Amino acid sequence: MTVPVRTLDDGAWISVNNARAVSNSEVWPVSGAGVCDCEVAHLLPESFYDVSVGRDAVAVGAIVQCIDCGGHGTIDALPVGRVVDGEFREFDPGAVRRPRATDG
Ligand SMILES: [Zn+2]
Repeated sequence: MTVPVRTLDDGAWISVNNARAVSNSEVWPVSGAGVCDCEVAHLLPESFYDVSVGRDAVAVGAIVQCIDCGGHGTIDALPVGRVVDGEFREFDPGAVRRPRATDG
C-alpha cells in the first residue's frame, strides 16, 4: 500500500496520508547527524525539503539547527515515524533517531 507524503506550506509541515503529521517546530534528538560535533544533537528542523517512505518508515529531508551548539546543516533522510496499518505513528519525541544512509 502506498501512503502519500508531501511537504506543505513551503516546508513548514510534512503531510502523511493527506493530513498534517510533522511540523517544523519540533526538536529531535539525533545521533550521527553530521551537522555538528554533539554526540546527540537536538535538532530543530527549520524547513523540510523532502519526504519519502521507505519500507514503512517516513523520512524527511530538512534544513536543521542544533539547539545545543548552534550548528547548522541539512539531513537528507531522517526517519521521523512509521506507517502502521496505513496510519502515521510519529516516533516518541525523546527517542534518538539516526539518519538513514543515502549512499551505499
Ligand atoms: Zn550540536
